[in-house]
Amino acid sequence: MLRTYFTYFLVFIPSFAFTSTEDRICFDLHGPTCAPGELSDPTGKSRAQNYTIFDRHEFEKSINLEIASQVDKTLEDSKNRKFYEVAAEAFSVDGLPECTEIQNLDCKKRVSEALKNQLRQEIFYNDFVSKSEFKIQDLTSISYLSEHQVMAKLRGNLQTSADRYLNNHKVMDKIKNEVFPNVQGLLVEWLKEVLPPGKARDNLIFKVDHIEFKGFDCTNDEINVPRDLEPGGTYLSVGNAVTYCKGSLHYTDSLFAIVRTLAHELSHSIDPCYIQFYLEKRKFKYSGTSQIDMEREYPFKNIISCLRDKRSAEAKRLNPPSPASNSYYTPISGGAGVVPPSQPPQAGAPQFDFCNIQNNGVVTNGDQIGEVMCDWVAAEILPRYIEKYYTNLTTQDFRLGYLNSFRHWCYPQKQRNNDEFTTHPSFEKRANSILLANPKIREQMGCSKDLPGTLYCDPKMITKPDNTVLPFQEAISNTEKGIK
Ligand SMILES: [Zn+2]
Repeated sequence: MLRTYFTYFLVFIPSFAFTSTEDRICFDLHGPTCAPGELSDPTGKSRAQNYTIFDRHEFEKSINLEIASQVDKTLEDSKNRKFYEVAAEAFSVDGLPECTEIQNLDCKKRVSEALKNQLRQEIFYNDFVSKSEFKIQDLTSISYLSEHQVMAKLRGNLQTSADRYLNNHKVMDKIKNEVFPNVQGLLVEWLKEVLPPGKARDNLIFKVDHIEFKGFDCTNDEINVPRDLEPGGTYLSVGNAVTYCKGSLHYTDSLFAIVRTLAHELSHSIDPCYIQFYLEKRKFKYSGTSQIDMEREYPFKNIISCLRDKRSAEAKRLNPPSPASNSYYTPISGGAGVVPPSQPPQAGAPQFDFCNIQNNGVVTNGDQIGEVMCDWVAAEILPRYIEKYYTNLTTQDFRLGYLNSFRHWCYPQKQRNNDEFTTHPSFEKRANSILLANPKIREQMGCSKDLPGTLYCDPKMITKPDNTVLPFQEAISNTEKGIK
């Protein structure tokens, strides 16, 4: 059974907040993050998704013209005669009385229109099958046609035309050559600072230092407009690599957003789940199989327990998993997230592993702690990055910057069902309980050190005595003095 979690969409601001001399933003970063229009900070601009600079109408018009000319050219080419015959059959044109002679001009026109429509559906909607109200063709034949190499070539050509709309090479070059290596370097420095010396630290530093930047394509498709426009980033566990989804660049070129995302994705390599996958001699291995043992073994001691606390991000997890399932690790869909290695189930695999769980036969990522951990590390790295590479920023500049860090994720959405579990906590938690709780960020924004009612998970906890408690109990009752 799913646990029931209520997602808060309204921001509750305690009345004492208004009696303070501090501005509202010091208590609530999440609310104004989605205010309409464009916001500029000294590193760039961010727009909410409903205010994108991307002119989809112009783009579709141009790609539709391109589709028409590419399809006509393909069908005129005598080398593609067999492809034409396959298409005629797939669309059942060959069954028409007038098309017993399949090379008939009228039949060619019908096939050409159907092909153009097919490509439009694949490129702009990506779900030709489910969008059809009526089963007008044999879907197996259409899928077969769709996989034909001539179709793949057509999509490849269209990708080239679409790239000039979908790519922003100036920002991409900067991310690849400058921002990514700088964030990676800062993360390595931070690990040296917060982790106690030893083999675990050396291995984690080696792993982070060897993460590769794998570019901007998060779709793995020839062309897929809806996914090409999705913002986000990906950590690929196989290959230890990070991608930054080019869709993000339609909404933001602010380094507050870019650095936060890159730091988050880099941190997946050391999150409680993905820390377990790497080169045999370098990877971290849990020896215990119970949740409490594994939380204690995780090199960032006390942090998991803290991040599960109600006053922090309150990282949830679903009910305890059933023993190792057949598809133990499954990829998480969507533009942002992590792509785990596909591994056969192993005998004696841990019952609890911070990764996926099986629920009613469906394997899902069952623990928010991975995402929360990455948000927490990103909140440590981001203020350091801005401080190092941008001098003389004012309090106002920092406020605009931090408003821009989640801004491109703002879009109208339905309220989640109460019992719907997602791997990421709400944006309110991510913005207010993690970013805004960070004392360095608060200082830069000109806010008082503590956010009332919120617990900051101080990296200094890592070298303090073990304080791990079972999640869902009243956690951190004996929190270190001075650490809030
Ligand atoms: Zn993530």
